[in-house]
Amino acid sequence: MQLADSDLLRTEGFVDGRWCPADDRSEVAVVNAASREAFATVPRMGPAETTRAIAAAAAAFPVWKRLLAHERGHVLRRWSELVREAADDLARLITAEGGKPLAEARGEVTYAAGFLEWFAEEARRAYGEIIPPHQTDKRLLVLQQPVGVAAAITPWNFPAAMIVRKAAAALAAGCTMVVKPAPQTPLTALALAALAERAGLPAGVLNVVTTDAATSPAIGETFCRSRSVRALSFTGSTAVGTLLAAQAAATVKKVSLELGGNAPFVVFADADLDAAVEGAIAAKFRNAGQTCVCANRFYVEAPLADAFARQLAERVGGLQVGSGDTDGVTVGPLIDERGLAKVERHVADAEARGGTLLLGGHRHPLGGTFFAPTVIAGATSEMLIAQEETFGPVAAVFPFQDEAEAVTLANATDAGLASYCYTRDLSRAFRVAEAFDYGMVGINTGMLSTPVAPFGGVKASGLGREGGRHGMEEYQELKYVCLHLDDDVGASAARSR
Ligand code: NAP
Repeated sequence: MQLADSDLLRTEGFVDGRWCPADDRSEVAVVNAASREAFATVPRMGPAETTRAIAAAAAAFPVWKRLLAHERGHVLRRWSELVREAADDLARLITAEGGKPLAEARGEVTYAAGFLEWFAEEARRAYGEIIPPHQTDKRLLVLQQPVGVAAAITPWNFPAAMIVRKAAAALAAGCTMVVKPAPQTPLTALALAALAERAGLPAGVLNVVTTDAATSPAIGETFCRSRSVRALSFTGSTAVGTLLAAQAAATVKKVSLELGGNAPFVVFADADLDAAVEGAIAAKFRNAGQTCVCANRFYVEAPLADAFARQLAERVGGLQVGSGDTDGVTVGPLIDERGLAKVERHVADAEARGGTLLLGGHRHPLGGTFFAPTVIAGATSEMLIAQEETFGPVAAVFPFQDEAEAVTLANATDAGLASYCYTRDLSRAFRVAEAFDYGMVGINTGMLSTPVAPFGGVKASGLGREGGRHGMEEYQELKYVCLHLDDDVGASAARSR
């Protein structure tokens, strides 16, 4: 693969400021998501390399945390500038290993740079508190301090953004970090590390260990069992997040979990139909439906349901499927055969339970892991597609009768990440936003992610928030300082009056 800046195509892990192979020199292939051909290899690292990376991060921590906040911010800002300058190369890497169309990959790079910029500024705002004391000879302070070494485990669907959303917040707070990227998308992670190194990040502050799917659990366990790792931040499936939370309990560390969603997209009869359909395209078909905030269940008020499903199918029929590096392509391949099989299972189940296929419903003629964009009308709560996130380009439309039913249906899931509602009634918008059991609500929009707002879920969708002014809290501890004054200043002031 050719990049304009060939130095960004890194195929070694990054530990303690050094680019290195696995101890046993074993490698794992990186596959082009569209062609399914291997085009690079990265080291298959394991617990030994991970333990060394944790030690490097622990050794770097005392120096990094003592830098002034604006000095840490300066490095993050420089890193963000380099990420923006390298946007084309990073986008090409994201498209090659992850499969999303180039325009979307560029959008992800901009989104990722936004987190670096945001936390470069937030580093300076780790304010503490001064509390009015309970005794006149005491002064009470609360300091915000970095927890120490943080570990990050990230998925393949946003290979750049999911890493910097964690790393920028952790580094701004004064923590150091070890990242284990998804085995499908290690090259983007390594390119980001190369840019961080160029930005002046000291050795050991950010480390990247690459591996394969078989070894990921051993690395996860190494993070969880390490007493040096004081915070674990995971983005991925609820099943794996639950396992990691249980493992991490043994060493009582901070755990943030950004897990799976099953987003409802509720359209009331008073909504602007065209806007709702455009919002549905954005919320459903980005990254071929493989985002945690993707709409999964389209609940449409009965009088509008048929028109919405028809118009959506018409619009979806115009999406262009293909390799992400081809001009005009808007839907790329799915990440792997397992993802494809899940989508097929959901579609077959919906058909078997009486759903009406308006479009697609089958593998795409391009082969590989391409799936034809699909619209299903007449969906019901018994279908798998109502109960699990599909993670593919399939939109299922469920009719509903009234607002109470819409809210009940929307909340009838363990997931609680993103949710969407289209209505022109302002009072209803507020009622629904407050009634939804979700961490995030988009009203009359299908796109809600931004570095400046807190991203995260409730219920089985996770713990903690990333981005926004709360994002750094996952990497900070409060320290309460109770200062006893020799002289009772309050009493002597009263005496002197
Ligand atoms: P996944 O299977 O849970 O994998 C996520 C990461 O965890 C990968 O790096 C994976 O590596 C690793 N992993 C798997 N088992 C592990 C273990 N036992 N110990 C340590 N690491 C382990 O999820 P995915 O299929 O890649 O990603 C899709 C899921 O992520 C969806 O559910 C999606 O909704 C969710 N997601 C959530 C957010 C959010 O912000 N809430 C954002 C993006 C995605 P291996 O592949 O090697 O197993």
